[in-house]
Amino acid sequence: MKTNGYAVLQPKAPLAPYTFERRALRATDVGFDITFAGICHSDIHQAREEWGSAIFPMVPVHEIVGIVTHIGPDVTKFAIGDRIGVGVFIDSCRTCENCLAGEQQYCLNGMTGTYNGYERDGVTVAFGGYSNKFVIDQDFALKVPDSLEMSGVAPLLCAGITLYSPLRHWGAGPGMKVGVIGLGGLGHMGVKFAAAMGAEVTVFSHSAGKESDAKAMGATHFVVTKNPEVLAPLKESFDLILNTVSAELDINKYLELLKLNGTLVVIGLPGKPYEVTAFSLLRLRRSLSGSMIGGIPEIQEMLDFCAQHNILSDVEVINADYINQAYERTVASDVKYRFVIDASTF
Ligand code: NAP
Ligand code: ZN
Ligand code: ZN
Repeated sequence: MKTNGYAVLQPKAPLAPYTFERRALRATDVGFDITFAGICHSDIHQAREEWGSAIFPMVPVHEIVGIVTHIGPDVTKFAIGDRIGVGVFIDSCRTCENCLAGEQQYCLNGMTGTYNGYERDGVTVAFGGYSNKFVIDQDFALKVPDSLEMSGVAPLLCAGITLYSPLRHWGAGPGMKVGVIGLGGLGHMGVKFAAAMGAEVTVFSHSAGKESDAKAMGATHFVVTKNPEVLAPLKESFDLILNTVSAELDINKYLELLKLNGTLVVIGLPGKPYEVTAFSLLRLRRSLSGSMIGGIPEIQEMLDFCAQHNILSDVEVINADYINQAYERTVASDVKYRFVIDASTF
């Protein structure tokens, strides 16, 4: 299937138009026209090799929505014309205990990433969603509820589930104080979900201008972190803090804000190690944990939760030829709050 997209042809090169072939449909495959594709900061980290060496040419993006155009003979989950979504992985071993538990993102044999990796045959490079067509096995695609506007759904497939999953895992709800560090693509979804679950939400941001947006999304408190003294009065008061910052950060300052048995969850992936002092953990029996996206059943649950609570990502819809500028603006924390590409412009 001839596909038009954008690719990074070599490390650190800007994105440029790129034409390639998607595979012919297998029996349980679904083919679809992409309508919108969100720009995740992980795309930028990988295109720039901030996490180590990558595979080029690279067609990034793992926040993909579209409309089904083709189905293989054994497809039961989708029909032509259905709304469909794809997130950060397109396959997994399907047999290990984590896959069987629906936690395919933690597949013991390695999930198959939507791009910058090989399919399970070990040789075919996976190409992501900066493109106009996609092919995927039905078991790794999501059903997008009809009530949700499609451009605001695309970022839910990565940014949305990545914040929904830890909030559910650590039981966010009434009576809990939740902090979200960084009001970007991931962080703004965390604020919306935590507020919808009934928690009291505080945003920690290095951008003073985001306060009114944060409050409109459901935050009760907004803390501008440029001056570290502002954190002192908040010591020992949070149950759960989610760190979504894409850059290096002193996480000890935030560990100090946790109350007894509180947890700080690492979600941002700056590529460099964090430094953690033993005292900030053992005082008040605090935990430092991590969380990575979510499994297929939980992504579907999150989409249905969004339909129920009318939650979407706040997006700036752009044309394909604006991707490189969008990357620069994302790195500068200048996006409200996710760039989403209109895939008809590929
Ligand atoms: P993003 O839209 O760029 O948001 C990151 C936010 O971090 C910015 O909006 C900014 O918020 C804050 N920030 C950026 N630079 C900063 C700095 N120098 N100092 C302090 N704060 C800074 O990125 P994203 O797409 O949300 O992704 C965030 C991180 O999560 C990335 O590293 C990405 O790779 C990672 N990620 C992880 C998973 C997972 O499964 N764990 C999934 C997807 C992405 P303020 O302006 O409010 O300060
Ligand atoms: Zn992502
Ligand atoms: Zn597995």
